[in-house]
Amino acid sequence: MRTGLLIIGSEILSGRTQDKNLETLATVLREKGMVIDKVVIIKDEIATIVENMRHLMQEFEWTFCSGGLGPTRDDMTKEALCQLTGVSLQENQQAEDLARRHYQRYGRTWSKETNSYHLIPKGIIPLENPAGLAPGLFLTKNNRQLYCLPGVPREFNQMLIQTVLPLVERHPSFQRTAIEYLTLRTYGVPEEKIFFQLCPTLWDDLEKYGEVSSLPHTVGVDIIIKLKQGLRPNEIEQTVKQLPSLAPLLSHIWQWGALSFHHYLVELCRQKNIKLAVAESCTGGLVAHKITMVPGASQIFLGAVVSYSNEIKKDILEVNPKTLQTHGAVSVEVASEMANNIRQHFKSDFALATTGIAGPEGGTTQKPVGLICIAIAGPDSSVITSTYNMKGDREQLKERFSDRALLDLILRINK
Ligand code: ATP
Ligand code: MG
Repeated sequence: MRTGLLIIGSEILSGRTQDKNLETLATVLREKGMVIDKVVIIKDEIATIVENMRHLMQEFEWTFCSGGLGPTRDDMTKEALCQLTGVSLQENQQAEDLARRHYQRYGRTWSKETNSYHLIPKGIIPLENPAGLAPGLFLTKNNRQLYCLPGVPREFNQMLIQTVLPLVERHPSFQRTAIEYLTLRTYGVPEEKIFFQLCPTLWDDLEKYGEVSSLPHTVGVDIIIKLKQGLRPNEIEQTVKQLPSLAPLLSHIWQWGALSFHHYLVELCRQKNIKLAVAESCTGGLVAHKITMVPGASQIFLGAVVSYSNEIKKDILEVNPKTLQTHGAVSVEVASEMANNIRQHFKSDFALATTGIAGPEGGTTQKPVGLICIAIAGPDSSVITSTYNMKGDREQLKERFSDRALLDLILRINK
């Protein structure tokens, strides 16, 4: 079924707000075997909204619309629906009941003086908003469906999952077609090297199983195959593993699956009953943040010290002042002591330490911006260290540093 998304919001076009609803919708629909064919982002302007709703509804069987449902003057979706369908607003008992219920949920009372949520265009069906006040709106016309949801990401998400999706699935033209993916997550080889040098026939070989895409990310390249109908990821994985054209890349695949570094690490530690501790300098807590973003991280994560200054490295992590003086804060020697000492303090199985230069200042010829030293202390008290030179601005470097540190830890545990 062909699907379009209309995102209404001048703040998104001006760059003040980053759209989140495309990702939500695409993810939720993908699980149902649907993909979004087109996304249009437009300003809060009535004529533009009407025109784009009309176009999308002509082009697609299903159109989703985000934003403009609130009670203020810049919320124009309702008025747009009136103009689109050539009807006027009228009192709607169902909308009134919804408004009353939504307000009650927050301990507030709704009345017709509060706002005009009870007035909706004739023929439009109001939809329950499980996480907010403004009802959603649903138009069905000539076997075309238009679902209007709030722009606030949390409300969009909840209304999509709880209210809209059940309606979509119940619709006679909805056909559930599972889309299956096979993901190979690689590290350490740039994509041109993978596809032009190491594995020149790999892409052709993989295309026999579906649509191939190559997605470089912070510290590696993901190869994703959208499998042809009826193919099962587990079976294709076994076949792909045997491909001669993949052989040179096998040792660079860290995961046959689509988990993030932190999700994979937490799961790995849970399976192996491993406890972790982290000592961070240049990543400023980002490694700990990522780990703790995973539900259930408390089972494996003991804690972290963000030792940004040399004093904290010395006083709290007991890094030897001589090591700092001789090798400098950004060195494998300091990283090594940070990892070793925090592992002992926290009594963890493994400990990870990062120290590097995120820039834009602070780089030298010997130690340029983008340099990161990572140390991992393990249960046998051994410490392994690595040094990488990475590219990017401060934010990108912090992302890359933290992902590389998580990856190194994964590789060490899996060794
Ligand atoms: P509603 O339909 O609930 O009124 P709206 O988009 O009309 O939503 P606004 O007042 O424009 O409401 O936006 C409310 C908040 O939601 C703002 O912080 C806005 O930036 C944010 N928002 C709206 N649309 C999006 C979007 N597509 N992605 C991320 N944030 C969004
Ligand atoms: Mg808006």
